[in-house]
Amino acid sequence: MTADLVIDNGIVVTPDAAFSASIAIQGGTIVAVGAPAAMPAARETLDASGLHILPGAIDVHVHFRDPGYPHKEDWESGTAAAAFGGVTTVFDMPNTIPPTGTGTILAEKHAIAASKAHVDFGLYGLLGEDTIDNVPELIAGGVIGFKLYMGNTFGKIPSPSTGAMLEAFEVVAETGKRISLHAETNSIMERRQTRLTQAGRHEPLAHLDSRPAVVAVEAVSRACILSEWTGARIHILHISSADELRPLREAKARGVDVTGETCPQYLFLSTEDYARFGGVIRVNPPVREKDNQEPIFAALKDGTIDTIATDHAPHTPEEKTRNDIWAVDCGFPGVETQMPAMLTQVNEGRMSISDYVRWSAFNPARAWGLYPRKGAIAPGADADLALVDLTREWTIDDAKIQSRSKISPWHGRKVKGLPVHTIVRGRFVMRDRTLVPGTKGWGRSVHTLQRMPAPVVRNADKTMRAVTRDVRPSPGKESAA
Ligand SMILES: [Zn+2]
Repeated sequence: MTADLVIDNGIVVTPDAAFSASIAIQGGTIVAVGAPAAMPAARETLDASGLHILPGAIDVHVHFRDPGYPHKEDWESGTAAAAFGGVTTVFDMPNTIPPTGTGTILAEKHAIAASKAHVDFGLYGLLGEDTIDNVPELIAGGVIGFKLYMGNTFGKIPSPSTGAMLEAFEVVAETGKRISLHAETNSIMERRQTRLTQAGRHEPLAHLDSRPAVVAVEAVSRACILSEWTGARIHILHISSADELRPLREAKARGVDVTGETCPQYLFLSTEDYARFGGVIRVNPPVREKDNQEPIFAALKDGTIDTIATDHAPHTPEEKTRNDIWAVDCGFPGVETQMPAMLTQVNEGRMSISDYVRWSAFNPARAWGLYPRKGAIAPGADADLALVDLTREWTIDDAKIQSRSKISPWHGRKVKGLPVHTIVRGRFVMRDRTLVPGTKGWGRSVHTLQRMPAPVVRNADKTMRAVTRDVRPSPGKESAA
């Protein structure tokens, strides 16, 4: 056998260890990991001296704005940013135009993504008040999972009532798919925003005041209760506060199939940054008080929070710098800078590089049924790799990032750790900090690889479907007849 590529002299990182080894790749798949002498002959060899080789990050929370907002981002620019950030798979959110809520719209989005993407991808289907009946067609069309907005955010997708949410959970529970939740309770935020506006509050901190942590505590708790009742698998997106960790921990202890995510903005930004950045750091949920950061970090380490994602949410400078905070679009880019920001923490000794791989690749791959095809460096896995120089110190510069959005709170941040090459299914898409020509359209949807565990349905006899499908005889009816 002749391999396509053998990578020598690098340090391979897994969730358990980091060790010197060579990697052989053929046909897009890892075929060997081990001693250099054990590698097959290869058409190409890469000397990875001084580099760590990580499973490419799987960012389960990006907004590439395509179709709908080409001035903010599209699949080409968004996945180029991913490639530069060592991210080899992204899951894109459904708040595009039109929202990804029908089989037809999903098919159109799949075609757009497949024609432009440099990295692999999965697409979320929208689970809203009026799209519950579309679940079968969305699954047939190949969604990686569902997204449910408990709170309003960019795109103004209405949040479903608790009744619709329960029904949605019942339907999705039968499929085994995971529902990702924007867990902020809309009615609390809406009332507070109205009161704050009436009181003349239009400055950046008014946004935080409209969304105290209780909006997340209430939403996470409610979501876990409905998950426990129905058996639906859920994922709590962008955990921003220490307070919501308690309902998450308690649900996990009860055996609820819930995973949690946080993002660099909740680990590294705080209320102290509002004065400097103003509306640039307006994001949902909001950047909070600094004393949330340590508990969130600790929750990653103890496994309460499973994954690091970015909520990459690009906008233009004009959209981010309006005077009235309520008119500023929410979110900012992050898919390209997450890995360097986290590797900086590895360099500072706050976590191991294996911890990082667990949160960025291994856990997301497991939660969405992609492991061990994705998220692993082992024979049989897709050759999705980020080769990083852990010693490289550099400064993030908004003007130089691949995202179309040239404004972020990461601008000017000193980091240590840089992805040097990114490989997707055996092919370099970013090499020596340069996008590899011809890789546009190389990305493929990963839904075909997904193998979720068998569904676990609870209270099946009490679902909306069960109680409306069979009109049961009332007690005593038979004997009376
Ligand atoms: Zn988001």
